[in-house]
Amino acid sequence: MKVGELEILPVFDAMAAIPPASAYNFGIEPGTGGKGTDADDWAPHADLLDAEGRLEIHMGGFLVRSGDRRILVDAGLGPDPVFGGEQGGVLLESLAALGLSADDITDVVLTHLHFDHVGWVSRDDAPVFANATYRCHQRDWDHFVGTDEVATRKMTPVQERFEAFDADFTLAPGVDTRLCAGHTPGSTILVLSSGAARAMLIGDVVHCPVELLDDEWSGLSDVDPEMAQRARNALAAELETTNVPVAAAHFPGLQFGRLLAGEGRRNWLFG
Ligand SMILES: [Zn+2]
Repeated sequence: MKVGELEILPVFDAMAAIPPASAYNFGIEPGTGGKGTDADDWAPHADLLDAEGRLEIHMGGFLVRSGDRRILVDAGLGPDPVFGGEQGGVLLESLAALGLSADDITDVVLTHLHFDHVGWVSRDDAPVFANATYRCHQRDWDHFVGTDEVATRKMTPVQERFEAFDADFTLAPGVDTRLCAGHTPGSTILVLSSGAARAMLIGDVVHCPVELLDDEWSGLSDVDPEMAQRARNALAAELETTNVPVAAAHFPGLQFGRLLAGEGRRNWLFG
């Protein structure tokens, strides 16, 4: 993926395939969820599921090259056993396939501090990306570090290399952060721009493109579900008028796609 002078490459780490209604019921009282929590809601959206009708939740990050900066956006699930013993991922191998070692990464920016985004931040109490500056929004640091076991364990060893941001800022030429709170208090979108070209990395503001198709879809694991819903709906309204390509942190194959305005219903197109 090229955005003018910027290059954006998926860095795959791990994948979980789950019946979609169970995914959207995760962490909530049975029967209290909105659209997406009933298997019937998914019937018109088989194109977004795998051959067995499961939702593929890919995990990993994105490498953004801006000049001589090599920025890793999110750090995957990590090497530790999670999800009932399933082994974590191959993020470092994926980076190696792009010709990069962990030491080549200049910046790690985390869209938020959920466990499936901080997995490779540190390992055995040492930073995995020894030369990188690590960043996330101050609100996520305050919300997770010290209370959430995984975020605390992963983030504490990089404290000396860490810089929080508490306002939108330019991380590198053509790479800007934008607060999009709701999924977590400091959930951050990366806006990539070069000349007239634009794209966005939207973290977990949505988990599956279906959440952008109409405003009724519920989200997944939102810290503040109502705020997250407003943020998703506002983003969808923006995307259908701008045609900007977006990739979320868990889209299949970490692919980009576009939200297209349609007659009565929006459409999603990968690629
Ligand atoms: Zn996530």
